[in-house]
Amino acid sequence: MNKRPSWDEYFIEIMYMVGKRGTCDRGQVGSVITRDNRILATGYAGAPSGIAHCNDVGHEMHMVTHPDGTESQHCIRTTHAEQNAIVSAARHGVAVEGGTIYCKMTPCYTCAKLIINAGIKRVVAAKDYHAGTRSKEIFAEAGISYELLDQTVVAYENQN
Ligand SMILES: [Zn+2]
Ligand SMILES: [Zn+2]
Repeated sequence: MNKRPSWDEYFIEIMYMVGKRGTCDRGQVGSVITRDNRILATGYAGAPSGIAHCNDVGHEMHMVTHPDGTESQHCIRTTHAEQNAIVSAARHGVAVEGGTIYCKMTPCYTCAKLIINAGIKRVVAAKDYHAGTRSKEIFAEAGISYELLDQTVVAYENQN
């Protein structure tokens, strides 16, 4: 018998496929926004439309100090998958209020703030993120349901 995936499993699998379109090989990250188990928008981490891709011209590395005080090198050329999903919805006039967002990792602080203000009510992350502490705090403070499917913590390497 074929075991049907749960809705969460279904959207997480799609999220991983979306991430494969990413244009920065440091993070093949995808995101899917749904409501009532229907897809509203998707996004992947990539340079803005029409801007050179990391995979063609190299990364745009920058030292980032995280809200918890830790530092790490990040590529800042890309718009994050969560941001691109929200922007894609805006571009097409799709309301995401009351929706769920599926993410590869606990969203970063900036994405977390956008998710809150987009009116998204549930965040499902496949894995944890080493600098995701503040995001989890503000999700709780804003009354957003946050669910982590796998306790693995993702940390980016400090390399160019
Ligand atoms: Zn990059
Ligand atoms: Zn982010």
